[in-house]
Amino acid sequence: MLFDILTIFPELFSSPLQEGILRRALAAEKITVNLHNIRDYAFDRHHMTDDRPFGGGEGMVMKPEPLTACLEDIQGDEPGRVILLSPRGKTFNQQQAVRLAGYSRLILVCGRYEGVDERFTRQSVDEEISIGDYILTGGELAAMILVDSITRLLPGVLGCSGSAENDTFSHGLLKHPQYTRPREFAGKQVPEELLSGNHADIAGYRFVESVRVTLERRPELLGRITFNSDECRLLDKAGLLGRIKKLKNEYSCDCKLL
Ligand code: SAM
Repeated sequence: MLFDILTIFPELFSSPLQEGILRRALAAEKITVNLHNIRDYAFDRHHMTDDRPFGGGEGMVMKPEPLTACLEDIQGDEPGRVILLSPRGKTFNQQQAVRLAGYSRLILVCGRYEGVDERFTRQSVDEEISIGDYILTGGELAAMILVDSITRLLPGVLGCSGSAENDTFSHGLLKHPQYTRPREFAGKQVPEELLSGNHADIAGYRFVESVRVTLERRPELLGRITFNSDECRLLDKAGLLGRIKKLKNEYSCDCKLL
């Protein structure tokens, strides 16, 4: 996967790319990250990348010419999907990360100030993505979140194959609680079921606990899930089926329960 990032602050990316899985993904050439300083494409005397907004108002707006010149310079033979990080965009989530991991090249444009000139967005941007309903000072951290979450989905990036498939959100449920050594900590034991060595029992326990935590914290997610009859039996045994059935009405969900 090739990431091209357009920014006026390329140095912001150096530290996150030098640690852990991203560093290894770069070293193994699973990803390439090219940072492009928009300022290098500001050809006026003062290398201005922003200017005052027409119509007045606070702050500055990023000028369209440097952004367009930068994009034209880097597009080359393999056109990438151009994404503008923007609080007005579609909210990013795991499904979006999976979708974007299917591209071979993503071009991420980081806004600053009050945002970018609308004409650049209309002419050159394929989609706008927001990382949530809050305002950052710039698109760099948002772009980094896309790079991070997409990279770990690429084949061969995570050491343990399967760990991305079992993540929270991958099956529409939050992840079950996890435990490691010691067996007893601060007077609390690891749940018996996880010590049994019986893989089916462990899988069943984890499934039920996933549903339980989702029910407590993000019940609206359960509205989108269809459980099979074995799963319904497990949920019934754990006393959760009745509460999930109630969600059918609350969230007008389509879960097909026993
Ligand atoms: N005045 C703009 C508004 O109200 O929509 C906010 C501009 S913000 C201070 C500057 C830049 O940060 C934006 O152009 C965008 O690139 C980035 N940004 C801010 N919040 C973001 C978010 N939630 N998701 C993605 N990018 C964001």
